[in-house]
Amino acid sequence: MNEEFARSRLAKTCKQLYDRNLTVSAGGNMSVRLNTVEIIITPSGRNKGSLQPEDMVKMNLAGEIIGGGKPSIEHKFHLALYEENPETNAVVHCHPLYCTALAVNNKKIKSNITPEGALLLGRVPLIPYYTPGSQELVDAIMDYPKARAMLMSKHGALTQGNTLEEAYNRMEELEFQAKLQILAGRTKDLPDSEIEKICNM
Ligand SMILES: [Zn+2]
Repeated sequence: MNEEFARSRLAKTCKQLYDRNLTVSAGGNMSVRLNTVEIIITPSGRNKGSLQPEDMVKMNLAGEIIGGGKPSIEHKFHLALYEENPETNAVVHCHPLYCTALAVNNKKIKSNITPEGALLLGRVPLIPYYTPGSQELVDAIMDYPKARAMLMSKHGALTQGNTLEEAYNRMEELEFQAKLQILAGRTKDLPDSEIEKICNM
């Protein structure tokens, strides 16, 4: 992807996440793949509502910073997902309120209670808690490298996609499903046969 275009799309997506209350203040980090070896990622410690295209930090998959800026400390799991999945072109990690409300209680997100959840998210694993930025957290995430969306215990949520829009949509849907689950209380998944039918559509 053209770097200038990627920078402006990433800044727009950060603003969208912020405006939709999917992230607050400096929380979370988002990235886009430029080519097979390089990505751009949000900088460390900045409010996602006011990031500009030029604020994004360019890195290679070996973890080297190209040009200026300090990348988010959580860049390691972004790099690992890009390395493992050639089809992944965007990664979104943030701390949406309802996702995090489930995550702090170690509750899984049931994504199979509506057709939309099953279709957009598939099964959503719950990643055990490890310190942000640690290799242990990267390893725990890489136990589910193909998951479209994950919940991170005591921390937040993570999605990946073929495009930035797809990763964003999965995050928005994940937060909707978390909110729905909390509002609906005890509820059952759609039957497995129906899930199979939806996923084959
Ligand atoms: Zn985080």
